[in-house]
Amino acid sequence: MDRFIVLGSANAIPKLDQENTHLYAESGEIRILVDCGDNALVSLQKNRLDPNLITDLVITHFHPDHAGSLPNLLMGMWLEKRKLKLTIHGLEFTIDRAKALLGLFGWNNWQNMYPVEFNILPETGEGLIIKDKGFYVESRMVKHLIPTVGLRFSFPDGKTVTYSCDTEPCDSLMELAIGTQILVQETAGPGKGHTSAEEAGKIAAAVNAQQLVLIHYDQRAGVSNLLGQAAGSFKGEIIAASDGMMLI
Ligand SMILES: [Zn+2]
Ligand SMILES: [Zn+2]
Repeated sequence: MDRFIVLGSANAIPKLDQENTHLYAESGEIRILVDCGDNALVSLQKNRLDPNLITDLVITHFHPDHAGSLPNLLMGMWLEKRKLKLTIHGLEFTIDRAKALLGLFGWNNWQNMYPVEFNILPETGEGLIIKDKGFYVESRMVKHLIPTVGLRFSFPDGKTVTYSCDTEPCDSLMELAIGTQILVQETAGPGKGHTSAEEAGKIAAAVNAQQLVLIHYDQRAGVSNLLGQAAGSFKGEIIAASDGMMLI
């Protein structure tokens, strides 16, 4: 089954009904969790997904709202006697820190731990994270406050979803997202390392997306305001992501 689900849609500050931005993508035997800032163990279960069946975890960057609950996620699956190998993808900057964080919790001493493999993503050009039976996931460096990747998912039936991750508008995001059907665009606001709703609309128009999904936004800014600002330059469909929303 091909699926793409918004597990969390908030900016760095989770709210009562909005967790930090994290995503789930599935095709065939591949089940990917993107980021684990808040409690992904709970958000996966809320969406009737079994954490122990996740095959790949992509950590887009090492900010707490994207990577903060990594030790708890890995420990929970260990306590549930997970057997399946987990592959963790990220830039070297990210993986080094993830290992250090897990080291502080002494994960090397967890008895009968399931296999964990690390895949370091390239800092230049495009990185291929997954290639499986017509399902492709690619990464590319975007422009945030620390090293960060955006992701593009290409499903076997031709559907494409691009997740900007945290970034300001930049050429590499445009290249990653060009021609994407769905653009899941962070809308944290104007300023260094982030994107405003107005800029999100401009990016969606520039890459010729069919649908723009605003994510990583502060709901206190007013969803209708954000949608209105994005609609200034993008004439396709625009929605604001909410937790549990299924995009595919
Ligand atoms: Zn963030
Ligand atoms: Zn960030």
